Amino acid sequence: MIQDTIAAISTAVGEGGIAIIRVSGPDAVTESAKIFRSKSDIGTAASHTVHYGHIVDPVSGETVEEILLTIMRGPRSFTAEDVVEVSTHGGVVAVKRVLELLLRTGNVRIAEPGEFTKRAFLNGRIDLTQAEAVIDLIRSKSDRAFSIAMKQSEGMLSKKVKALRHGLIELLAHIEVNIDYPEHDVASMTSAYIRERCGEACDEINRLLKTAAEGKILREGIVTAIVGRPNVGKSSLLNALVQENKAIVTDIPGTTRDVIEEYITLGGIPLRLLDTAGIRETADVVERIGVERSRTALEEADLILFVLNVNEPLHQDDLLLMEQLRGRPVVVLLNKTDLPTVLDTSAVEALFPADAIVKLSVLHEHGLEELEGVISRMFFSGELESADMTYVSNVRHITLLGLAKQSLTDAMESTDIGIPIDIVQIDVRTAWEQLGELIGDSVADSLIDQIFSQFCLGK
Ligand code: GDP
Ligand code: ZN
Repeated sequence: MIQDTIAAISTAVGEGGIAIIRVSGPDAVTESAKIFRSKSDIGTAASHTVHYGHIVDPVSGETVEEILLTIMRGPRSFTAEDVVEVSTHGGVVAVKRVLELLLRTGNVRIAEPGEFTKRAFLNGRIDLTQAEAVIDLIRSKSDRAFSIAMKQSEGMLSKKVKALRHGLIELLAHIEVNIDYPEHDVASMTSAYIRERCGEACDEINRLLKTAAEGKILREGIVTAIVGRPNVGKSSLLNALVQENKAIVTDIPGTTRDVIEEYITLGGIPLRLLDTAGIRETADVVERIGVERSRTALEEADLILFVLNVNEPLHQDDLLLMEQLRGRPVVVLLNKTDLPTVLDTSAVEALFPADAIVKLSVLHEHGLEELEGVISRMFFSGELESADMTYVSNVRHITLLGLAKQSLTDAMESTDIGIPIDIVQIDVRTAWEQLGELIGDSVADSLIDQIFSQFCLGK
């Protein structure tokens, strides 16, 4: 049980227009009230309210700072405790004076590095992978790393690991039942069942580890394929997005023979754009190579931008392509809306959700912002997560996933050579525990301390 109240400067010292002191613990409000003079009585103030006033030294009566004070009562706060944030004007001197006064006057101690986040974890507010993502957030410099950390912070990795553990618990329960009722035919069924379930779990762990090995998103961004028949405006779109004229734009169909790649950041989300040759059957050998590459690009894509020309009726190739795109993360772009609409859009609307269809005129640069909006919505809602979006970022995750995988492999091998299932059960249980350690479910105190000591002060 946490009893004391802690405080620290939670903004980077010396930077920015304002500085924030964060106070957390059971006495956060009463202790802050001792040095705060305001029209409002913060002792009885509601949660999530902001109060204007002055920091006054209660001994000398001297006014130290003009501040804004925010109250967030637990559990609706970052730490799940009562939290007070004091915003002062920037400057190291001002913020230090307020903090010193608070520590001197009240029953408040200075927070250890990472202690706020540690409390959030200990109070069940966040799990360990989320806590680690906060570390990454603090450290990340680029937008990309920020997006990844954010994604993880939302608990993507923990969600997957929890699902894995859930499957293993079911398996353990199954084995348990079998140990209690060991009829022979049930036992052999269980061996097959154990192999299958352990195999599935291993596959999932491999997928997670693959993202770590490739550093997939961090290095490459979301692999985005621009597909559609020749001349619908794919290269023009790529160019508009990149705002450089690297891809060749022409009136002759099929000029983009190879796959062209560009890296862009759209609303903070890193995309690796692939412009593909028109995907269609063709007799032209050179183009066929391009088409092959397009197919590969399409298979590997995390996101597909499917371009149609509204000035032409739907083509047989469009229908084939739509068939291939079924169930994939797709944004449909109805391009050339500056020209008369000939295309029967109802056929498209029947196949794709309305919020994934964007009307566009690349030529007039209309609709590009809307496209940006759709992509960020998909990204942050996790719709783009299906193709390996989970990012395993640190050595501890990799190590524990590797150990869990080994335990599951041991379980499968033991099953194969007929080792009794109560022994096999131990390996499955070990895997479950190792995955639990990853999300902080069964971690030793020393490990928790080690992780949280990595934080900057005030986080
Ligand atoms: P791709 O073969 O799909 O890559 O198509 P391109 O990008 O090479 O474009 C084919 C032709 O369509 C070019 O002449 C473009 O200028 C033209 N085009 C592209 N977007 C638009 C648009 O929004 N409106 C109109 N009117 N023409 C466009
Ligand atoms: Zn093109």
